[in-house]
Amino acid sequence: MIHDIKVFDKDGNLKEIINGLKVFQEMCEDTAKSPYLMERKKTKKTFICRFCKEEFPRNSPVQFCCKQQKCIYQRHLENYPRKGGRKITCVICKKKATVTHSRAITCSTKCSKENNRRNNLVNGLSFRVKTKRKRAELKRKEIACQK
Ligand SMILES: [Zn+2]
Ligand SMILES: [Zn+2]
Repeated sequence: MIHDIKVFDKDGNLKEIINGLKVFQEMCEDTAKSPYLMERKKTKKTFICRFCKEEFPRNSPVQFCCKQQKCIYQRHLENYPRKGGRKITCVICKKKATVTHSRAITCSTKCSKENNRRNNLVNGLSFRVKTKRKRAELKRKEIACQK
């Protein structure tokens, strides 16, 4: 049950009666127009994130970053590049590269993706890894016996 809202002035005299139901309905309408729902409706248009090169629903005409943590970080680096950088050998293509990220082990997003893919593969095939490890362990024992 929604009651009318009575508004009193500072002397305690009734100033205004607000239709509670109307206010409530207006509130509901506002919720229906919330950005979250609008966003879901706008999924037709997409943009490609400049950093991770993935496609995302577009919320504004100038959007270029998906606002994922990693991409926000990339953008930050672009705006405030770190002095110096660290020289690494890319774990994927074995090329030498200078990186600004403290934990980077690959030369480019392409290689980083490949590295992720390989890691996922390893995780996904942990069973195989386990059997491989077991085999390696057996081998070690064999060698130990031969000594
Ligand atoms: Zn992104
Ligand atoms: Zn590389």
